[in-house]
Amino acid sequence: MIALRPYQSHMVTDVFSAYEQGARRVCAVAPCGAGKTVTVGWMIAKAQLQGVRTLFIVHRKELLEQADRTFTAMGIRHGVIASGVPMDSAQDVQIGSTQTVAKRLEHIPDIQFIVIDEAHHATANTWRKIMAWYPQAKVLGVTATPARLGGSGLGDVFDTLVLGPTVRQLISWGNLAPYRYFAPPSKANIGAVHSRMGDYVKSELEEAVNDADIIGDIVQNYRKLANGKQACCYCVTRKHSEHVAALFREAGIPAQHVDGETDTSLRAAIIERFRRREIKVLCNVDLFGEGFDVPGMEAVILARPTQSLTLYIQQSMRAMRPDPNNPHKVAVIIDHAGNCFRHGLPDEDREWTLAVKPKRKRHTTTAPITMCEKCYQVYESHLRSCPYCGYAKPAAARELKQADGELQEIARIKREQRMEVGRAKTKKDLESIAIARGYKLGWVSKMASVKGIKG
Ligand SMILES: [Zn+2]
Repeated sequence: MIALRPYQSHMVTDVFSAYEQGARRVCAVAPCGAGKTVTVGWMIAKAQLQGVRTLFIVHRKELLEQADRTFTAMGIRHGVIASGVPMDSAQDVQIGSTQTVAKRLEHIPDIQFIVIDEAHHATANTWRKIMAWYPQAKVLGVTATPARLGGSGLGDVFDTLVLGPTVRQLISWGNLAPYRYFAPPSKANIGAVHSRMGDYVKSELEEAVNDADIIGDIVQNYRKLANGKQACCYCVTRKHSEHVAALFREAGIPAQHVDGETDTSLRAAIIERFRRREIKVLCNVDLFGEGFDVPGMEAVILARPTQSLTLYIQQSMRAMRPDPNNPHKVAVIIDHAGNCFRHGLPDEDREWTLAVKPKRKRHTTTAPITMCEKCYQVYESHLRSCPYCGYAKPAAARELKQADGELQEIARIKREQRMEVGRAKTKKDLESIAIARGYKLGWVSKMASVKGIKG
C-alpha cells in the first residue's frame, strides 16, 4: 500500500470527522500535485473495510485511467464503469466516467459514498442526476479550485469545506517545485474581446492573438527565459496552436501541436519524443490539464488569456511537479496572456468559501502584483524593488501604473455590465440583472422603457 504524506493523512482525518459531525456533502480542497487520487484512494479503502459501497466518478478518460492505475497499485479491488467496458457489479468500489454512470444508474445499486473528482464541475446536470439517484449517500468532492467561472462558490452542492495544504506549503515541503514567473508585455489587444459564459469568446480571442508578430515574441521570450527547457504552450484554438508550433519550428526549435482529436497512437508518439527531449515545445489547447501528465515538463507558456481561475491554476502549475532526477528544479512560467494580473500568482493564498454569491470582487486576489520592467518577473506590489534583479521603479510610476490597472479593470467591468444590459430581451432578464447587482426595482421599468421592452 502506498503510504500517505502527513498532510494527506490530515485530510483523511478531517474529511471523516466532518461526516462524524453531521456533514453530508463535503468538498475537500487540495492543490494540483497534492496527490488527490492517492488521498481519495485511502478514504475509499477505509470505507471499503467498513463494507461501504463507493462510486468514484470522474469526467475525463485520462482521469479514469489514472484512478484505475492508482487504485490497482494501492490494492483496492474495484470495477470500472465506462463505455465498452463490461461491468463488474460484484465490486463494492466502482470507478466510473460521469456520462456512462448517468446512463447505467439502475444497474449500480446501493451506493452509500459518492466521490466526485474535479468537483468544480459538480453543478453540471449529469452530476446532479447521479447525486439525486442516491439521496442517502454521503458525497465527497475534491478539487484544487472550489469555484465556478465568475468566482461563485459551490454551496448549492456541498455543505462543508475541508481545506488541505496550500501551494506555498507544498513548495516549502518539496512536494512541488518552486517557480519563476515572467509576464512579458504582450502586443495583443484583448480589450475588445467579448465574454460569454464567464470566459472570453474563443473566436474573437483567436483573432486578437493569432498574429505572427505576437507569436514571434512568444518564441523570442522562450529563447530568452527558458531556452532548451521542455515546455508546454497553452493556446486559444487549434489554428492558433498550430501557428505557434510552426513559428517555433521556423526558429529552429522542435515543436508540435497536439489536441484531443490527434490520433491516439500519434499523440503517444509525440509525447514519447517530448519525453526523450527531441521535441522541446508541445503546443495544445487545454489538453494537458487535469489528469494528463507529461513527465519532464520544465516550463509552461501561457498564450491563452482566460477568466477561468481553474484553468489558469491547472495550466500555470503544470511544470511544478518535482523531478526526482533534478532535485533543484525550478519551474519557469512565461505568461503572455496577462493571466496573473487576473488571478494572482499560482501560490497566492486564497480564501475559499462555499458562498454561492460572490461579492462585487470577482476574484479572491489578495496581493496586487507588479511586473518588473527590466527582467519581466512578477512580484508582490508592496515590494519597493524587484526581488529577482533589484530593479527599482520610480515611486510615482509605480503608483500610476497601479492606478492605471485599476481604472482599466473598472472600465472593463462597466463595459461588461453595459453589454449584459444590452443583451437583456425581457423584463425578467432585467429583473435578474437588478437582483444580481442590488439595483432598486425602479431601474427595471426605466431600463425597459429605454430599451422598448413591453410587458
Ligand atoms: Zn527584475
